[in-house]
Amino acid sequence: MMMLRSAILLLIIVSQCDGQSADTLLTNALIYDGVAIEPVKGDVAIKDGKIIAIGESLPHAAKLEIDCTGKVLCPGFIDLHNHSDRQIISGATRANVNYLLQGCTTVVTGNCGSGPVDVAKYYKQIDSAGAGTNIAHLLPQGGLRLEVLGSERRKPTAAELTKMLELANKAMHDGAWGMSTGLIYVPSSYADTEELVAIAKVVSKHHGIYASHIRGEGGGLLDSVQEAMDIGKEANLPVHISHFKSSGQSNWGLVRVAVKVIEEARKKGQIVTADQYPYRASSTSL
Ligand SMILES: [Zn+2]
Repeated sequence: MMMLRSAILLLIIVSQCDGQSADTLLTNALIYDGVAIEPVKGDVAIKDGKIIAIGESLPHAAKLEIDCTGKVLCPGFIDLHNHSDRQIISGATRANVNYLLQGCTTVVTGNCGSGPVDVAKYYKQIDSAGAGTNIAHLLPQGGLRLEVLGSERRKPTAAELTKMLELANKAMHDGAWGMSTGLIYVPSSYADTEELVAIAKVVSKHHGIYASHIRGEGGGLLDSVQEAMDIGKEANLPVHISHFKSSGQSNWGLVRVAVKVIEEARKKGQIVTADQYPYRASSTSL
């Protein structure tokens, strides 16, 4: 009787192991999990698009097994400064293959104040035929202002400001991750700090971020960094400075001073980050 029980138990254990099937099994990879500093060697089992097990010599049977010996396995990269707003809803480019081939599985659109303002409609367009990467969209403040004030260089009326705040609230409700500004571009640049704070406060209510192409990336760098940080402080939301640099030979080195200013703010508890591209050229539209 005892032997029979043991045999039954063994059978159950074996069948449970057999039952652990996966769609994909990646073996012998050098795994960086994005948290631990040191990588570990092992296998990763995936089922229904989700990781179901990580470990050494996993017993899972899988339809697809890939030997990753000599290869690194890590979470997909996020390209947080991207301008593929239009390409991601176009048939020819929505697969976003160029990003996938670089390991990017999420791209952030709506940067520098430009891009779709109706976030629900935009996400629907993306989902209607799918996209090769995940998309996290920022509400573009330039586009928002254009919709309410056109390209007029003046302060908004009370009614216009209310309209912008309503649209910002809707965009955040519909899944925007924050707002972006492009303060060298018309009409984003026509907004003063006070107007930006008002919109940022709405974004903050939804736990969004403030990402900014700041007003000046040359001689005005320090004032512009300060403005971004002031907006973050007043509206109580994280600040991200896009493509951080000091342009123009006479301003070279200014970025080091700006870094110190940012570090001081971070020491005091403010969330401020920046991104920088690893080359000296830059491009823009006129
Ligand atoms: Zn920009």
